[in-house]
Order: sequence, then C-alpha cells, then structure tokens
Amino acid sequence: MIEKLGIKFGKIFRSLKFRIFCIILLVGFIPSMILHYGILQNYEQRAISVKTSEVQTQFKILANHLITYNYLTDTTSDVINAELEQLSSLYDGRVLIVDQNFNVVKDTYGISEGKTIISEEVIRSFQGENVVNYDDKNLYLELVTPIEEGVTQDLGLTAQEPVQESVVRGVMVTSVATNSIQTNMELLSDRASILQMIMSIVLIGIAWGLSYVLVAPFEKVTAAISEVKDGFYTERVPVRDYLETEHIIEAFNELLGRMKVLDDSRQEFVSNVSHELKTPITSMKVLADSLIAQENVPVELYEEFMTDIADEIERENKIINDLLSLVKLDKTAGEMNIESVDINALLERILKRLRPIAKLRDIDVIFASTREVVAEVDEVKLTLAISNLVENGIKYNNDHGYVKVSLDADHQFFIISVEDNGLGIPQESIEHIYERFYRVDKSHSREIGGTGLGLAITRSTILMHRGSIKVESEEGAGTTFTVKVPLTYIAK
Ligand code: ADP
Repeated sequence: MIEKLGIKFGKIFRSLKFRIFCIILLVGFIPSMILHYGILQNYEQRAISVKTSEVQTQFKILANHLITYNYLTDTTSDVINAELEQLSSLYDGRVLIVDQNFNVVKDTYGISEGKTIISEEVIRSFQGENVVNYDDKNLYLELVTPIEEGVTQDLGLTAQEPVQESVVRGVMVTSVATNSIQTNMELLSDRASILQMIMSIVLIGIAWGLSYVLVAPFEKVTAAISEVKDGFYTERVPVRDYLETEHIIEAFNELLGRMKVLDDSRQEFVSNVSHELKTPITSMKVLADSLIAQENVPVELYEEFMTDIADEIERENKIINDLLSLVKLDKTAGEMNIESVDINALLERILKRLRPIAKLRDIDVIFASTREVVAEVDEVKLTLAISNLVENGIKYNNDHGYVKVSLDADHQFFIISVEDNGLGIPQESIEHIYERFYRVDKSHSREIGGTGLGLAITRSTILMHRGSIKVESEEGAGTTFTVKVPLTYIAK
C-alpha cells in the first residue's frame, strides 16, 4: 500500500505538468511574499522615524518653554504643567524632567518626582545628544532630549564676536506609546494577506491552466504515436507546436519510414521466397503430370523426365540451403565465433574444394598471396562468403577462363580480391546484385544454378566482420570483387 503510494507520488513528481505547475507557483509566490514583508518592514521604519521627528520637534519647543519659564527650578508654572499634560495625553506617554543634579523635578505620572535618575541615555543626553530607543516588544518609543539654553560668552577679545553657546540645563525623558503604528501595521498586514490569498488563488489557476497548455503538445505527440501503434497507419504524424515536439515527431516519422521500408522488404522477401520455392515444384508437377497423362511412355522419356525432376529437387534443395544460411546469419548476427584464423590456409581450402568444378569447364583457379595473414574472424562465415564469390567467378565465366584470388594486408585490414574474366555485370545491375533473389539474367542464371541469395549472404557476413565489399565489372570483360576486413575483430 505504502509502496504503491510512493510509486504514485514518484510519478507525480516526475511529471512535466507538475513541475511546470510548481515553477509557476514559486515564481509567483516568492516575489509576493518578499513584497509583503518588505512593505511591512519599510512601513514600520518610516512610521517610527516620522513619529520620532514629530515628537522631537514638539519637545524641543517644550524645552525652550521650560527654560523661558525657569521650570527646572520652579515647577509651579501652570502654563508648562498644562502643556506637559497636553503632550503626554496626546502621545499617550510619560514625561520626566530631570535637572542638572539628575533629580526628577517633574513626572507626568507623579511617581518618580524627587528621585534621582542616572542612566547611560541621560548621561549621553547631558552631553547634548538626542537619544532615541525603540522598544518593539513593549511598543513604546523612548526619547531623551537635552533641555538647552543658549548663552552668549564674551571672551573679552575686542576683535572677536561674542560666542553663542548652548548649555544643557536638564533632560527630558519621554516614553511615547507606538500602538497606533502597530495597529496600522496589523491592518496593512491583514490587507496584504487578503491580497496575497486572492493572488494565490489566481496564481494556482494560472499555474494549473498553463501547466496543461504547455504540456498539451507532448500529449498530442503521445496520442498521435499511440494512434499509429493502434493501427491508424498514417504516413506521417502531424504535430508541430514546439520545436522540441517537432524534433520528436521528425525522429518518429523517420523511424516510421524505416519501419515501412523494412516492412516492404520483408513482404517482398516473403513473396520472393514463395515464388522461388514454387517454381521448381511447378516444373516437377508439370513433368510428373505429363508422364502420368501418357500411356506406354518409352523408358528414355521416363529417364529424361526423371532426370529433370531430380534437377529440380536439387535446385529446390539449394534454395532452401541458401535460405537457411541467410536466416541463420540474421538470427546469429550477434553470435560471432571469433578466433585467430590463417587466412592463406582458409583460401587454399576453398580453392581446393572448388577446383574440380572449375576444371569441368577448363577454368583456371589461381591463388596469389603477398604475405602470410592471420586475422580474427568467424571461420565458417568467412569461408561461406568467399566461397560464394569464387563460385560466382566460376559460374559466370566462359570455358577456358580464369578466376584469380589474391590476398594482401596492411597493418589494419586484410584484402581479398576475386577477379574473373567472365561475363561481367551490366552497369545498371551492379547496384542490385546484393539484393536477395536478384539475378542479372534470370533464365541464364537458372541454367547455371543460381538462387540470387549468394551475394546477399556474402555481404551480410562481411558487414558482420565490420568489413566492406566492393565490385568492379565490365560486361563481357570480367568482374572483380574486393573484400576488406579488419585484422582484429571490432565488437560493437
Ligand atoms: P546467384 O545465386 O544467382 O549467383 P548471387 O547473389 O551470387 O546469386 O549473384 C547475383 C547475380 O549477380 C547473379 O545472378 C549474377 O547475375 C551476378 N553475378 C554475381 N557474380 C558475378 C560474376 N562474378 N560475374 C558476373 N555476374 C555475376
């Protein structure tokens, strides 16, 4: 159960649609979150600084009044007391006025009057500094403002102007509540959250829609390929939305084309095989039927017809053997029985076997080798390939002709050429001679006993050795086949 769920989730994570969905969501969400928190932070800083400068201005004015009314030594001034009350209620805060002896002369809360207050902020303020502290946990702003008096100092030097100086007479310690800022921030945050929610819903919608739209062409490709798979055979699959899908389709169409070629050649091969196998049987039937139909057939005719039937059986046998070799080559394409083989000896053996056949028509079979060659080959397969070439050299030759087999090698390849001075191959036939069942002159070839499979077998075998085969021929003058095979077998 858990495993199944895991596989299902794994599938979802691997899906392009899901990934596009996530990317769009992330790309939308991250900026909106940054914006949300950035705006709130910025607002808080700005609100605090506005509040600070506003309060500071107010208290500077108050400080001047305190000096004017000499409030630090006498706190009975109704005007100042009223002003203090007004300010502390306006800012929902507390004001302490401290004189030069660090004595609290006035506390709007009336708690600390007469007490001494010495703190770092107060000392710094006595040195003329405006100290501001923001306590964001308890939500208040603490300001310590110096109460300064301007004094004119005449240094007694006539040439110089009297110097205007400020002397700190006391300090004001003020706590101002910042609840309003917090309330505004909460309001702002709520609105931003609502906006973010709406944006999220819209984003999810867009991401969902886009992930579908963007992936749709790939699904179209799959559907089109499935149609072909299910048998709706079209020449080409026509999906062209993206360059990428176009590439997939192009590759698929190419594959389809190659499959079609293969399919066609398979069908052609099957029909050729049936035709080739049927021909000798048809002849045998005609021969047998004509014998049966006649009464008192002379023994000579019997003998003649029976010889013909035996020839047809021989031919049928040859076709079947060639076909079996070909099928075996296809089947065992990967199974090469590679070993080090003395190629000179291999060629000698082939020629020894074929010389008696050549001798019947007085054809000379010559072997010319420039060096000893040992190579990594499949002996059985290579023997078959070269035998076919030499056999052809004998078959398609004139009486008293010759077949010359030469062997040479460089550091990479060995080269076998099979040359004859026989019938030659017409120019237009050369490109077809490796096709299965192809014969230049059907009737003549039949007389000679060809099946049209020999060169197909030879070429497959040479290609399996990663070699190449080439032919040069002139009609009426002769033919030369050149086979080039690597000395060391290259396994793919
Ligand atoms: P086959 O069994 O008919 O010989 P192959 O595949 O060996 O079939 O050869 C195909 C055709 O190529 C032959 O029918 C023949 O017409 C031509 N051919 C092959 N080798 C030679 C050659 N050495 N000289 C002339 N024609 C040849």
